This record gives sequence, structure tokens and C-alpha cells, in this order.
Amino acid sequence: MKPIHKSNKLLNVCYDIRGPVLEEARRLEEEGQRIIKLNIGNLAPFGFAAPDEIVRDMMRNLDASAGYSDAKGVFAARKAVMHYAQQKGIAGVELDDIYLGNGVSELIVMSMQALLNNHDEVLLPAPDYPLWTAAVSLAGGTPVHYLCDEQNGWLPDIDDMRAKITANTRALVIINPNNPTGALYPEDFLKAVVELARQHGLIVLADEIYDKVIYDELSHTSIAALSEDVFTITFNGLSKSYRACGYRAGWMILSGLAEPLRRQRARDYIEGLNILASMRLCPNVPGQYAIQTALGGHQSIQALTAPGGRLFKQRALAYEMLSAIPGVSCVKPKAALYLFPRLDPVLYPIQDDQRFISELLRETRVLVVQGTGFNWPTPDHFRVVFLPNLDDLREAIERIAQFLDKYRRQ
Ligand code: PLP
Repeated sequence: MKPIHKSNKLLNVCYDIRGPVLEEARRLEEEGQRIIKLNIGNLAPFGFAAPDEIVRDMMRNLDASAGYSDAKGVFAARKAVMHYAQQKGIAGVELDDIYLGNGVSELIVMSMQALLNNHDEVLLPAPDYPLWTAAVSLAGGTPVHYLCDEQNGWLPDIDDMRAKITANTRALVIINPNNPTGALYPEDFLKAVVELARQHGLIVLADEIYDKVIYDELSHTSIAALSEDVFTITFNGLSKSYRACGYRAGWMILSGLAEPLRRQRARDYIEGLNILASMRLCPNVPGQYAIQTALGGHQSIQALTAPGGRLFKQRALAYEMLSAIPGVSCVKPKAALYLFPRLDPVLYPIQDDQRFISELLRETRVLVVQGTGFNWPTPDHFRVVFLPNLDDLREAIERIAQFLDKYRRQ
């Protein structure tokens, strides 16, 4: 019988956060094993409840949510996002510049599908949140990775970024705060990125889904707030700051278009976005009703990230325990939910990091994700999610330490 192949479009598309090792973990669970999952930034299963106010308002609006909404989303939610853009200092945003989506994920894919022709290039961070690279490949584009510098708190190397711009480069992606590194970018760096985009006529795509998950009283600057002339798309949503990953409520904000000539320049691309938004009819409507309440209400994530808060304590424990393992070093995250530790290649001469984390899973029943899954070029990192409670986190990292101890002695 003739085999049924996946399409060629998917040949270079890879998303290892839900890759083959997760399948292995599922099989072990089916056999009755308890797996400690440090692999995915999904807050609800770890007891981080979505704020009551959001849940109640969504339920109250369920009757009104049965029909399709406008393709770009319901008016009240888009208006709330518009006010949010104003609060973040993003100038000149109109209601029409706001698109709601089934999470940021759908909008990332949509923004790339509307933009790229075959061989168009997009600059992406290494390491990155791998959906970005996958979305570029799926759209026929070529992902080009710029390096983030671990020695410099994982700040992207602006010279590397500049050196990788070619005549085919269309856009530049910034993930700030960053997954998987936990870096938070300072304003002077963001200004340098804006200048680069301005000089080369690039679109800036800014994934800011962790903009409220910030520690140590630091604050977040939206790159879109730093220019009125560079076409920027800012992505955000309820998944992380409001612990509502399952509501699939995200948005994107187009900015840098206030001047009529600039809007004219982007008109064709915006038409492409509108076609794709219409083709999916509309995003999940109950989730959209949660947006207005979330953005207008009490920001309860702050109680979790402030000193003494659950995320604050879990970050400290994970950072301290991992850094104490011989040959493991770690940049302390300033934001988000992750650590991206480095394994000294002399002590841990890993050739294939997917095989390495698969062995780790089998021996310790702890699930993490390999660094190359985030398009990191060398097999010497892995990502840990610090969402489990302190007891589970301690147990997981103790088991990782024992595994690494054995590995070093081999
Ligand atoms: N962008 C980043 C950097 C993420 O870490 C994630 C999820 O982990 C997403 C986007 C996807 O978010 P959503 O749930 O809104 O689709």
C-alpha cells in the first residue's frame, strides 16, 4: 500500500517541547509511573488558578458567546487591548490595529503566513521559543538565528544580529522577556534594535507574553513604545500573566503606522492578515470575554512574583539547587518561568542532547527539554520549568543531581 506522507511544508518544522521524549513520558505514565514534569509552562495543572474574577466574567458571558464574533475579535476586548497599548506607551494604535487570536500561537503563525514568500529570511533568537522558528519554516521562510550571549545575561548580540541581515531579511523577532532564558532586555538594547530595523526597513515582531511575570521589582519596556515609525507587531495574551493557557486568549497590536504613508506601505500585508483572520472565522469567543476583565482588574500575578510569592520562592530554589551541581551553571532569570542551565562540556561530553534527556527521564522520572529543542546550536543546555511546588521541585532537582553525578563518573 502506498504510504501517506506528511506535506513537504512540514519537512523543516520542528516543535520539540511536545516532541518524542514527551511521548516516552506518556508511555511511562500509562505504565503507572509518576513523572515530575519540568517541561512545559502550563500553570493551571501546578495549582496556579486563573483569577476568580476572570473565570466568573467568562461564565457570565457564556450565553452571549455561542455565535461567531467579528473575525478580529469582540469590540470590548479589543478596546481593552487598545487601552493596554496606551498604558505601555505604544503610540498611535487604532482599534483596527488589534487582532485577537486563539492564543499568541495562532497569531504568530498567522503573522508569518501573511508575510513570507519562499526564501524570505526572519531573524530569530538562539535560543528561541521554537514555535517562532517553526512558523517561519511552515510559511516557506528561512529562519536565521542570532546569538544570545550567556556571558552577558543572555542579552542578544546586536553585532551578530546586524551581521546576519541580508537583502532577503524581512523581519526581526524579539522575545522579551525571554523563554527559555528568563532574560529581560534593557531599554538601550531595545533602542539599538529599533535603529537596526529602521536602517534596514525590517518589521519588528515582539513576543511579550511574559511582560508581567517579572521578579526583583524590575520593569518591562515594550519595544513598540520606543518608536513611532518602525512597523512593530506586539504579541501578548492571558496564558501566563493570568494563568489561563487553556482559554486560548491572545492578541497582537500593530504599531508604527500612525503616519498615513507608513500605513500605506503596510496596506498589502494588513490585507493579508485580514484574509487569514477571516478564514479562521474568529478566535474562541468565551476566552475573548476574559480579556477585558483581566486587563482592567487586579493584577494578581504580582503576588506570585514578589518576594515571598510562590513563583519567587520556586525560582530561588531551582536556581540555587541547579547552580550547586558541579559543572552546571545558570543565569538567574529576571522574568518568566524557566531556567536554561549549561552543562560544562568537559564534565558532560554530550553528543545528542535529546538522547541525554531521554536517559534522564528513564532513570529519574523527571522530564525536561533539551537545549537544541530551542534552536540552541550545541548540545550543552536544557530547560527547566520551575512551576512544580517546592517539594516536587526539590525532589526533581535532587534526582537530576544524582543522575549527573553518575554521568560524570562514567
Ligand atoms: N510565546 C512564548 C515566548 C511562549 O513561551 C508561549 C508559550 O509557552 C507562547 C508564545 C504561546 O502562548 P499562547 O498560549 O498564547 O499560545
